[in-house]
Amino acid sequence: MGTWQIGDISVTRIAEGIGLSSVPPGQFLTGFDPDIFRAHHEWMIPIHYEPQTDRLVTSIHSWLIRTPRHTILLDTCSGNHKNRPWNRRFHQLDTPYLDRLRDAGVSPEDIDIVLCTHLHSDHCGWNTRLDNGRWVPTFPNAKYLFSRKENDRWDPRVSSDKSRAELYNDSVLPVIESQQAVILDGVHEIDDQLLVEPSPGHTIGHVMLKAGAPDDQGVFCGDVIHHPVQVFEPSWNTKFCEHPEEARLTRLRVLQHCAEHGALLFPIHFAAPYVAGIVERRGRFLPAFVPADA
Ligand SMILES: [Zn+2]
Repeated sequence: MGTWQIGDISVTRIAEGIGLSSVPPGQFLTGFDPDIFRAHHEWMIPIHYEPQTDRLVTSIHSWLIRTPRHTILLDTCSGNHKNRPWNRRFHQLDTPYLDRLRDAGVSPEDIDIVLCTHLHSDHCGWNTRLDNGRWVPTFPNAKYLFSRKENDRWDPRVSSDKSRAELYNDSVLPVIESQQAVILDGVHEIDDQLLVEPSPGHTIGHVMLKAGAPDDQGVFCGDVIHHPVQVFEPSWNTKFCEHPEEARLTRLRVLQHCAEHGALLFPIHFAAPYVAGIVERRGRFLPAFVPADA
């Protein structure tokens, strides 16, 4: 675990797991150039890249954000017992994720807001848990926030793409049926410290959260940036970015914002130390990794 402090907001990493990308970086990242990638080996090995297997090292975690007013869980990893035959890393897991949440001093009942940046399987899995054969909301007192565009992208009753119907039905539909979903259009101000903004590209309805004051801020960017090498090479998408050109523009916009305001970037898949400030030097960006305060 690790906790970072941003003004009066504390941010704790709740891990589901750390592991290797399913394919080599040359297949995982689009726009990839092996010579450029090699030039990054020194800082990436062994924490962010494993040369023996030629795989990126990536984490899957949630951010527990505690403000004076709210207890927020941002993105909910893959969940337990979910059927995800298309990816071994998400399939039929049985991890002590909720124990880790409790170790951070928070029970599922304490969460009042769940925010899903998007509805890929590793970002909404713990929305629900299995209870006597039924999928029920894991966080009984929470409102679950996600964007309408994202919902409509995946809802098999609306979308022409039915390929993720099972995911939608086990991890999204139950929180809609329990009246806990708050479906967002455009920018949404939770309060004067918490702003949800559209950040499309990785998916059409992807959103991010800015937390704290403008000059002391955390930016929770979901999968706008997957791996820290993309800070150096922001034109590299992942193969999961559904709208490549928009994904690049959003990534640049987020990096620029962090560099200009000294904001800390809290992605979902960076390996240790998981968090980075962004420095701009001669028109290029560099990550300045920030270890946890506690
Ligand atoms: Zn992801």
